[in-house]
Amino acid sequence: MFVVLLGLPGAGKGTQAARLKEELGLPHVTTGDLFRENIAARTELGKKAMPYYDAGDLVPNELTIGMLLDRISQPDCANGCMFDGYPRNVEQAAALDQALTSAGKQIDRALYIEVPEDELVRRLSGRWLCPNCAAVYHEVSAPPAKAGLCDKCGSELTQRSDDKPDVVRNRLKVNIGNMQPLVDHYAGQDKLTTVDGSRDPEAVSADLRKALEG
Ligand code: ADP
Ligand code: AMP
Repeated sequence: MFVVLLGLPGAGKGTQAARLKEELGLPHVTTGDLFRENIAARTELGKKAMPYYDAGDLVPNELTIGMLLDRISQPDCANGCMFDGYPRNVEQAAALDQALTSAGKQIDRALYIEVPEDELVRRLSGRWLCPNCAAVYHEVSAPPAKAGLCDKCGSELTQRSDDKPDVVRNRLKVNIGNMQPLVDHYAGQDKLTTVDGSRDPEAVSADLRKALEG
């Protein structure tokens, strides 16, 4: 099964993907994480992506699409995966459709996690992450048991450099402009389910699970 998780920054894609990954056993393909790994390792791709990443702009399609297609050509994605943070525009969606079709596969479902903008700002500004196991926390709504430490592996939690208020504002602007055409793309293929993502994570997970079963 190939599933696209759609949602603006902070909608809860990573949070929900972690839950679904355990239940469905699908690999989690996150272009944001792939860029962060490349930037940290100072690869050629990372050096090219870094200025866009730091400003909260989209990395150009020619870099992003190549990186994504390379990732899904790996054996763990042969029978399916969950896309998080990709596609971010219709050109990226079309490139993914084309690659899957030429391999006799297709996107089965696109799940749009819809959250109002003011709630997104609140979530991103309080987000803390585990750099070791990628667990996601929020300082108010999902705090770790011991302040500053990951519940799962004990590592020290960090904040993302692009969760700073001015970069958050640009990320939301860029992504809001691209979201409706993407929603229309998957609705046009009769693959879209929209879920109210402003509720607690359990309620959101239940709806996503239902959409994947139905
Ligand atoms: P995304 O991957 O879409 O950018 P995350 O999963 O990283 O979003 O979530 C962003 C922040 O919002 C995190 O701090 C997370 O703990 C919090 N969060 C996620 N889902 C919910 C929810 N349903 N209700 C409240 N806070 C949430
Ligand atoms: P994310 O972790 O999904 O919030 O993405 C963090 C940053 O990585 C974005 O602000 C972009 O700079 C870049 N990025 C991630 N995914 C994509 C994508 N599909 N297309 C272009 N840029 C992306």
